[in-house]
Amino acid sequence: MTLEHRISPAVALRPGVAVRSRGSHGAVGSPYDERVLILIDLDNTLIDRDAAFRGAVAAFLAGHGLPGADLAWVMEIDASGYATRDTVARAITERYRDEVPPSAVRALLDRGAADRVELPRETEEALLAVREAGGECVIVTNGRVAQQEAKIRNTGLDRLVQGWVVSEAMGCKKPAPEIFRAAAGLTGRPVDGAWVIGDSPHADIAGAAALGLRSVWVSHGRTWSDPAFRPTRVAADVVTAIRDVAGGHGRVS
Ligand SMILES: [Mg+2]
Repeated sequence: MTLEHRISPAVALRPGVAVRSRGSHGAVGSPYDERVLILIDLDNTLIDRDAAFRGAVAAFLAGHGLPGADLAWVMEIDASGYATRDTVARAITERYRDEVPPSAVRALLDRGAADRVELPRETEEALLAVREAGGECVIVTNGRVAQQEAKIRNTGLDRLVQGWVVSEAMGCKKPAPEIFRAAAGLTGRPVDGAWVIGDSPHADIAGAAALGLRSVWVSHGRTWSDPAFRPTRVAADVVTAIRDVAGGHGRVS
């Protein structure tokens, strides 16, 4: 199948929001409820955001003659992207006040991960298999529009998914139910029956649980520890999670 597809006009919940729909591509004649609808996380689920950011930080430190050992410090304050941009920017700017201009810190935080992020071939193939079976996949991500859309486009995910919703544009973030409903709405389908796939217990799995949706937690080898709610399933990696949800429809040969 060619990757060249028409791009539907943006579906905007409000002016300028990063809510994009590529239009329906469901298989003709497929029973409605047999087409899987997947609402999937971006950072550290579809893509290894931390690895990309780590690489950018290492280059930043080396480029400014700073200690390579500071890499662990930056990664700690970044907290896998969960710390706010202002918090991280302030910490780095203050630590390297005499060595690095603020513009270089901003460039690191705005483009560092996005410029380096990659989509593994196995993940691309799993998404293609879902689409070829008439299934639909929408990215639901917390973060800033410019940064998240850069990652989506730089990796080619924009050609592989039905659309995406970014929290900055929505004015609310996961686990808020509104962002999942908006993502499902891009496909013209209700959120009921959707699967949520993600690596964050708090953002992804709690969001699914609040809506009564089935979910797959991408564990990356971690053990589930929150007794208040649980994912429907646990998968070690995202490819396993997608195949598991899509079943025979999404099987990758
Ligand atoms: Mg994540």
